Amino acid sequence: MTFQRFVATLLEVERASSRIAMVKMLAEAFRELPPEEVPLAVLLLQGRVAPEFEGLEFGVAEKEAAKALALALGRDEAETVQAVKEKGDIGAYALEVLPRRAGGLSLRHVYGELRAIAEDAGPGSQARKRERLSRLVAEASPEEAAVILRTVTGRLRLGVGDATVLEALALAFLGDRAKKPLLERAYNLTSDLAYVARLALEGEEALRQVKLEVGKPVRMMLAERLPGPEQIMEKLGPHFAEHKYDGERVQVHFDGERFWVYSRRLENITHQYPDLLEALREVQHGPFILEAEAVVTDPVTGEMRPFQNVLNRKVKHLTPELLEKYPIKGFVFELLYADGEVLIERPYSERRERLERWFRPHERLELSTKRFVETTEELVQFFDASIEAGCEGLVCKKPDGDYEAGKRGFKWVKYKRGIAGKLSDTLDLVIVGAWLGRGRRAGTYGSLLAAAYNPDEDRFETLTKVGSGFSDEDLNEVLPRRLDPYRRGERHPRVWSLLEPDVWFEPVQVIEVEAQEITLSPNHTCAFGAVQEGRGLALRFPRFVRYRDDKSPEEATTTKEVVEMYKNQWA
Ligand code: ATP
Repeated sequence: MTFQRFVATLLEVERASSRIAMVKMLAEAFRELPPEEVPLAVLLLQGRVAPEFEGLEFGVAEKEAAKALALALGRDEAETVQAVKEKGDIGAYALEVLPRRAGGLSLRHVYGELRAIAEDAGPGSQARKRERLSRLVAEASPEEAAVILRTVTGRLRLGVGDATVLEALALAFLGDRAKKPLLERAYNLTSDLAYVARLALEGEEALRQVKLEVGKPVRMMLAERLPGPEQIMEKLGPHFAEHKYDGERVQVHFDGERFWVYSRRLENITHQYPDLLEALREVQHGPFILEAEAVVTDPVTGEMRPFQNVLNRKVKHLTPELLEKYPIKGFVFELLYADGEVLIERPYSERRERLERWFRPHERLELSTKRFVETTEELVQFFDASIEAGCEGLVCKKPDGDYEAGKRGFKWVKYKRGIAGKLSDTLDLVIVGAWLGRGRRAGTYGSLLAAAYNPDEDRFETLTKVGSGFSDEDLNEVLPRRLDPYRRGERHPRVWSLLEPDVWFEPVQVIEVEAQEITLSPNHTCAFGAVQEGRGLALRFPRFVRYRDDKSPEEATTTKEVVEMYKNQWA
C-alpha cells in the first residue's frame, strides 16, 4: 500500500461521523493491505513503531523535527524552529510550507525509516536521526510529511482507540465485528496490538490458542466496587480478603535471565526498581510472572508510607541516596506463571496456594496478608486491622475466580473506607477541556471539564467541572505544563460533550477526583439516558485529589461504573 492511501484513511477516519463508520473504513483499509503490512499499519495508527511496552521511542523533540524540516526545505534552521513554535503544530506548518508534490512513498518504506530513527541511539544519533527524517520529508507529499512529523514528535493522536482497532481487525479478517472478544482476549494476554493483527490474519484458531508470554505484559485484572461489607459478603459469599496496599502495582516478569517490570499502564518501568529486582534475583527459582504492590517503607521504622512516596523514586537517574531514602517493599499477591505453567485460568484459591509454596521471603518481599472470611463481622474486623496496619482497606477475592486479564469484574471487590458525607470511592477522570479563570485565577485554568470512559463506544463522556482542590502551584504551573501540549482548537472526536469549554484538550491526562454525590444532569453526557431519559450523570462538589499518571485515559472510571456508583450511593 502507498503511504498516501494510509494517510488518506487517517483523514477519513478523523472525519468519520460515527464509530461504526470508523470501524468500516479501517477494516476496508486493512483488507487492502498485503498481510505483512497489516501489523505495520496497526502500529503506525498508534503513532508507534513497536508496542508501547517495548519502550522504543523516537527521541525526536519538536525542535529537532523542525530542524529536519528546515533541512528538507533548504531554509534557515532558526527561523523554521521559531515558525513551528508559533504555529504550535509541526504538521500544520509542514502542510503550509512544503511544495505540492505527489509523494508516493510506500508504507513499508516509511515504517522502516521511522523504525531506524527510533532505533538509532548513542553518540551522534541526534544528527543522524535529523538527517534521515529530513530525507524522508523531502520525498513526501505535504500530507504525508505532516503525518510523519507528527508521528516522530509524538503528536499523532487520532480518534481511534485500541478497542476500535480490534473491532476493525475482527471485521476485516474474521468477517464480523461481533468477533471482537476473541481479539480482545489475545490483546489482554499480550498487550501487543500488532501481534494480535498477525494472529487475526491467521484466523480464529490462532487467536484461541494464544497464551501469555514472559516479557509481554498481561493487561491487569481490576477490582469492582460495592457500597459496603454486607454487599460484599452477599456477592462473594465466604472468601479471601487481602490487605489493600497503597503503592504502585507492578507486574514482574523473569525469563531465567532478564527481568521486566510493568506498570498499571503497561509501561516498562524496570529501571525504577533495581532494589526490588535484586531481592527477587536472590530468591527466584526459575522463570515467573508475578504481581505485587510496591510500597515505600520508612528507612528507620520499616513502616509503610503512602503512595505519594513512590513518586519520589520516579526520576531519570535513581541514585543510591534515593534508594536509601525511599526503600521499597514488594507485597506479592499474584502468580500468573511459574514452573513452566500458565496459572491465570486456575481459581484464585489454587493460584494463591501455588504462590505460597513458590514464595521465599526476603526483607524486601512479603506475601500480601490474607484471611478467609465467612461473616460480615469477620470482614469488618479484618478491614479495621488492615487500616491499623497502614493499608487502604481490603481487596476481597472470590475463591473460584480466575485471573481475568484486562477486566474489571466482581471476582475482586475493593473495600475502602467511606468518608462521612462523601462517596465511598474516588473517580479517575480524563480532562477534556477547561474554562479560563477569572479574578484571582485570571490567566490560569479556572475549572476543568472531566470525563469518564465509555468502552463500548470508545469515547469520553463528561461528568463534571472540577475547580477546587488545586493548589496555587497546580493552577499557575503544574496544570499549564501538563495540559498545554494537548490543547486543540475543537472538540476531540472521542469526546462527547454538551458543554463548550473555553479550550479543549486531547483526552490524555487522568486525575483522581472525590465528590459528595452523583446526581442526574441535563448538561453532562456520562451514561446519558441510562438512568433517566434526557439526563446524564454529574458529580456534586467535586474536588481534585491527585494526578493519576499511572493510568491511561482508557483506564479511567467507566461510565458503567459511574452508573453503579450512582445506584449504590444510598445503599
Ligand atoms: P484505587 O484507585 O482505589 O487505588 P485502582 O483504580 O488503582 O484503585 P482498583 O482495581 O480499583 O485499582 O483496585 C485494585 C488495586 O489495588 C490494584 O490495581 C493494586 O494496585 C492495588 N492493590 C493493593 N493491594 C492489593 C492486593 N492485595 N490485591 C490486589 N490488588 C491490590
